[in-house]
Amino acid sequence: VTPARGLVLDRRGEPPTLQELEVAKPGAGEVRVRMVAAGLCHTDVSSVRDARSVPLVLGHEGAGVVESVGAGVAFATGAPVLLCWKVPCGRCRRCRVGDAHLCEEVVGLEGPRCFRDGEPVPPLLNAGCFCELVVVPAAACVALEGDLPFEQAALVGCAVATGVGAVLRTARVRPEESIAVFGAGGVGLNVVSGALLAGARRIVAVDPDPGRREGALARGATEALAPEEAGELGVDHAFEAVGHPDVMAQALAALAPGGQLVLIGASARDALLSFHPRAFMSRQQRIVGCIYGSLRPHVDLPVLLRLAAQGRLPLADLVGARIGLDGLPRAFVDPPAGGVRTVVSF
Ligand SMILES: [Zn+2]
Ligand SMILES: [Zn+2]
Repeated sequence: VTPARGLVLDRRGEPPTLQELEVAKPGAGEVRVRMVAAGLCHTDVSSVRDARSVPLVLGHEGAGVVESVGAGVAFATGAPVLLCWKVPCGRCRRCRVGDAHLCEEVVGLEGPRCFRDGEPVPPLLNAGCFCELVVVPAAACVALEGDLPFEQAALVGCAVATGVGAVLRTARVRPEESIAVFGAGGVGLNVVSGALLAGARRIVAVDPDPGRREGALARGATEALAPEEAGELGVDHAFEAVGHPDVMAQALAALAPGGQLVLIGASARDALLSFHPRAFMSRQQRIVGCIYGSLRPHVDLPVLLRLAAQGRLPLADLVGARIGLDGLPRAFVDPPAGGVRTVVSF
């Protein structure tokens, strides 16, 4: 094992802390990655509130370089890689019928690889990349090419994949349709970009923060509104990227007949949404969940990286405050101001 520092959540509701961990060598089919950059996603923060189990190494949106590999792995030491936090098995019933995003046997490690005083500390979302060294299945690594900075590449692994995927894969927005996105953060801005790629005609971003509204317009949103200005927008697709029932209700009210509400934001586990089913029925609307943008990682992540390299998918505007690992515990309690995504630089 090799010592490494990582961010551990020990008790729900209490801030995670930086700790000395021991990371084992990668097993067969596994890769040990030295992290270079990792984004602080809303899901890391909400895990403090409602993680299914503790302890847990937080972090799931990252990029780094291959440090060592187990048997049967094609990656070379030193290769730059992007981490994917959900790798479908390719064999289960869901994968076979083409719904890999609903895989019932997500690829994981053969056994625990991260320990504290000899006791396993599992990773959040098969990644746990707020740690200097991370062991992941080789299939969770996507090769990075070109000169994309690690801090931008890292964000492709969750915020970009989720936002763009929600539009192109989950909602399947068609040319000339209209969309509204509620919450113009890391995921919401990528919903705007996904809608542009899909050929949407009207793209409305709704956010209370004027800076974020500006950011959405700069990305190509056709309108940016404060929540109190967004009434009955009459859009074909509404994306909720906040995770709050009040925002979901507003997004539902924004739908045109035949429209669908796509739930992207992670709400509290005990959150409830109420709505009037009568109008919903007669207007033939839909509410659909969205996990990780219905991603097929091995097809979609390289495509997103290529779009970024071609300048068709902006990434630089996502990077907000840059902090070191030492600054991470504080970022959970007191998020740095400015920018969209706080990024840890290792
Ligand atoms: Zn995330
Ligand atoms: Zn599967």
